[in-house]
Amino acid sequence: MVMQKNIQSKLRRVKDRIKAAALSAGRDPETVKLVAVSKTVPADRILAAIKAGATDLGENYVQEAREKIEALRGENISWHFIGHLQSNKAKYAVKLFDLIHSVDSLKLAKELNKRAGAPGKVQRILIQVNISGEESKSGIDAKRALELVHEVSLLENLAIHGLMTMPPYFNAPDRVRPYFRALRSLQVLIRQEAIPNVDMTELSMGMTGDFEAAIQEGATLVRIGTAIFGERR
Ligand SMILES: *Cc1c(COP(=O)(O)O)cnc(C)c1O
Repeated sequence: MVMQKNIQSKLRRVKDRIKAAALSAGRDPETVKLVAVSKTVPADRILAAIKAGATDLGENYVQEAREKIEALRGENISWHFIGHLQSNKAKYAVKLFDLIHSVDSLKLAKELNKRAGAPGKVQRILIQVNISGEESKSGIDAKRALELVHEVSLLENLAIHGLMTMPPYFNAPDRVRPYFRALRSLQVLIRQEAIPNVDMTELSMGMTGDFEAAIQEGATLVRIGTAIFGERR
């Protein structure tokens, strides 16, 4: 009961902040979707978030997600994969997730394409871009992103819906803002190519520390964990 109330009020607060950020940028708040990031969060607390109105959940690890998705199977939820995906987990990922945010190589895309075909699924994906160019970050280099989109667009069991990024962590929204802006520019550039089978509507960017800046810069999917579920252990 206490847990339910706590998650409910945090979720409400986050939704209010999303709405305010959208309005401050002259955007319709309905164009920003909240992905509640539930990595390390046990199923009972996720259920509390679902009861409080969470509809989209994000997980980073296939094995962990699989157990929770199984436990919550009766719930009407869209599951998002947001972590680094290894090719050898592709066959599980296509069974579990509605949207995979983290496709950053042709090798991974080909494996997902192969695995999605078997259950007759068109897997929705985003291309993850390493917009800061830091070596430690996952994602395709911004300079190579367009080329990757072209290549992946030819894979018939995948549907590209947009781009995702993880900017360097400054805990200072105004320092990450240029990276959000750069992802937005890349989206515009790719959209201008009008590549068949490619839809560039989604921009997955913004976390607990910086989601308002991300929304002001055009995010359509914000991935928020800590502000909803508290600090991770
Ligand atoms: C953990 C994680 C998040 C959520 O981070 P918070 O700071 O807890 O909101 C978002 N995106 C990715 C890719 C993550 O791994």
